[in-house]
Amino acid sequence: MSFSMSNSTSKEAAKKEGVFDERGGSPLGIYYEITVTLKNGNSERPRFEKYVLQSIAKVALPGERVAICFRNRRSKDSDVEVWKHRASQKAFYANLQVCGSVWLCPVCAAKISERRKNELRHAVDAHMEQGGKLAMLTLTFSHTMGDRLKETMAKFGAAVDRFRSGKRYNRIKKKMGLIGTVRSFEITYGNNGWHPHVHILMFYQNEIDMWEVEDELMDLWALALSSTGLSANRKYGLTLQDAEKASDYVSKWGVEHEMTKSHSKMGKKGGMTPFDFLREFLVTGDTSMLDKFREYGEAVKGKRQLMWSRGLKEMFLLEDKTDEQIATEKVEEADLLGMIPYEMWTRILRNDFRAQFLQLVEEQGFDQALEFVSSMVRAKWDFSRT
Ligand SMILES: [Zn+2]
Repeated sequence: MSFSMSNSTSKEAAKKEGVFDERGGSPLGIYYEITVTLKNGNSERPRFEKYVLQSIAKVALPGERVAICFRNRRSKDSDVEVWKHRASQKAFYANLQVCGSVWLCPVCAAKISERRKNELRHAVDAHMEQGGKLAMLTLTFSHTMGDRLKETMAKFGAAVDRFRSGKRYNRIKKKMGLIGTVRSFEITYGNNGWHPHVHILMFYQNEIDMWEVEDELMDLWALALSSTGLSANRKYGLTLQDAEKASDYVSKWGVEHEMTKSHSKMGKKGGMTPFDFLREFLVTGDTSMLDKFREYGEAVKGKRQLMWSRGLKEMFLLEDKTDEQIATEKVEEADLLGMIPYEMWTRILRNDFRAQFLQLVEEQGFDQALEFVSSMVRAKWDFSRT
């Protein structure tokens, strides 16, 4: 399996956006024609894509932590380390700063989502085994192309809080025998502009009439929305789905970060995800995609993506770890293969060669990989002097 990317319009756009490195005049590798050969469709391609998309996120948001993630060293006194997991034989970096942003960083989001998905799966399975019941509530509102995401997010967040407080909601909780909830904030973009929505997994115990409960929840949601100046079509504003749909949702959790999607999702069902903006810019060089990513970055600042209700994690014996902890922790046993001298590291960064370097380490070993980078750099240097 192999793939290549090249696009001259994105080169022009990249120039405008300042992607090109000032010092050597050498562009970040993403706008080179890139060809990566992969063995048996293993996971190099997603890794490569994640790093490339992260570099584009850096262009869009140079002041955010995603711009230094897996670039700047943690300790300036030591070099970048390369390790290899024993079980999976995957190479990875250490002594680098990690942003831990599930919203903005394609590298961190993939790792965090994978872990969050396992936690959700564990909780759902344990709950169902004990005879528990599960439903998925989805909340949204009517939105249009002209909406500013930050404004609608603030109103929407307030509406969700309002919806879940008060006597009537408590009565519904009692009727369901609600044990707890996991709430996930999501944002997509489509024909009607920004589409923020919330999925709430409801862990409950009692036999209920789904239609009746959905109807009661709809009344509450309409009230909550109107109190914040938003509104919804009754049919689309709220849905309550059964255990099968809820479980299906958990299974697909985070899969978005692992898939290389074809571009031009605009207008298709479900719309674009924020990482699709980065993909679209990579392919077309359309800088309005970077503006959208910036608007999104501004709107999600300080927001938590996934929230478990109090006590629910403990009930399923899950540790409560932050996204940052998950993004930095090593889960498998691993061995240190070597250190990359700082000078070499800056050249890897300048050529946006981080994913390819790890691939070389896995295929040819650490020394060979380092040798490759140094010869690559020397060749360029010699060329520039002639
Ligand atoms: Zn990150």
